[in-house]
Amino acid sequence: MLGDAYLKCIGPQCGLEYPIQSTNVQCENGHMLDVKYKNKPSTKLKEVFYKRRNSEGSIFNESGVWRFRELLNFCQIDTENLEECSKNLVSLDGAEGRQSKPYRMSKAAEFINTSNENLWLQPEGYNPSGSFKDNGMVTAVTHAKMIGAKKIVCASTGNTSASAGMFAANEGINCDVYIPAGQIAPGKLSQAYQFGAQIVEVDGNFDDALKESLDDAKNHDGYTVNSINPFRIEGQKTIPFRALEYLNWESPDWIVYPGGALGNTSSCGKALMELYEWGWIKKIPRIAVINSEGASTLSDLYNGKFEGEELRWNKGNPNTELISRHYDSLDSKGLKPKTKATAIQIGRPANILKGLRALEYTKGVVTTVTDSEMLDGMSVVGLNGFDCEMASGASVVGIRKLISEDIIKKDDVVIGILTGRQKDAMLPVNYHNDPNNKFAIPPKS
Ligand SMILES: [Zn+2]
Repeated sequence: MLGDAYLKCIGPQCGLEYPIQSTNVQCENGHMLDVKYKNKPSTKLKEVFYKRRNSEGSIFNESGVWRFRELLNFCQIDTENLEECSKNLVSLDGAEGRQSKPYRMSKAAEFINTSNENLWLQPEGYNPSGSFKDNGMVTAVTHAKMIGAKKIVCASTGNTSASAGMFAANEGINCDVYIPAGQIAPGKLSQAYQFGAQIVEVDGNFDDALKESLDDAKNHDGYTVNSINPFRIEGQKTIPFRALEYLNWESPDWIVYPGGALGNTSSCGKALMELYEWGWIKKIPRIAVINSEGASTLSDLYNGKFEGEELRWNKGNPNTELISRHYDSLDSKGLKPKTKATAIQIGRPANILKGLRALEYTKGVVTTVTDSEMLDGMSVVGLNGFDCEMASGASVVGIRKLISEDIIKKDDVVIGILTGRQKDAMLPVNYHNDPNNKFAIPPKS
């Protein structure tokens, strides 16, 4: 018997179901899984969520993730019972998602060439470990705790390891971080080291590191916290929840994300599907995904740049062989993803199928931007008094590009997600020391 919350294969022709305690990240036919809920949450909860912004001392109201706990109640607890919340829900004292909401940034709006009223940018870098990952890590580690895991495991080039290490330290469980040996600047792992994670170096690239981490999880009682874990996706739904709540649940025209492993695209799509189905929103915003030009797998496949076919979810029948052939072709040419925006330097997006589903549901678009454009985007955010990493600049310049192409209309309301905080101190220094850069303010002597 399955409870109110359960796991279900995303393939409509397969649709295998599993109990919520399962740690499988795939069905037995190798498809990804969704967390599903049988009950339809009442729209009266909008009022409850609003009231919880006055936390009255409860960390679960203070948390920008657990404030919406009825919409991700895979623990199936009495959500008003704070004792039950304390026993089941992991939290960094309510800090995850607490500072996240959409802001107006007039200098970014001017650069993007839209009105200040129509543009919102939502910094997720103000999460405790410095990126959006905390939104999903808190739910993944909650599930790890539910099933009694002693160790969490991930492959990471930076942000995931910081978040996993932080929550593991807070919960007193072990954390193994798999990295491709010699390919990651040690500074990117500084938080993981500081939080006491065990770094494991793997000969090969990121995909090899992920594969080894999955084997380790399977064979040594580890619990995988990469975004292929469906519970990560549940927590990341709160990014659009907070944006929508701030707009009084009136949908914007667009939600724009940088595109890497496509966990954010997947979770935004799932959030919008659920909210629309539950009658919480009347209109489905369109998702735009912005790839780096040097790591553009999704854009290439989606826009028909490989073999001329535009890859689609196709109601659950995506042409997965096209994806395999594309990966083989990259391998045979020795092409590796290459961008200074390391957070989105990913050649094989693990969530590509869920991402395609989200794009189909929201009539989404995918485009690319260059490294130098991303640096401009990052820098103009800084001029508004906000701090973000280079990959987040993709949202800003992606919106700018889509407006210039008249895909996003000038009077459309747009929310851009800024995924992480600056973790490479030298990027802004180098940017501003080069007077040729658009927003550079070089030092004087
Ligand atoms: Zn399946």
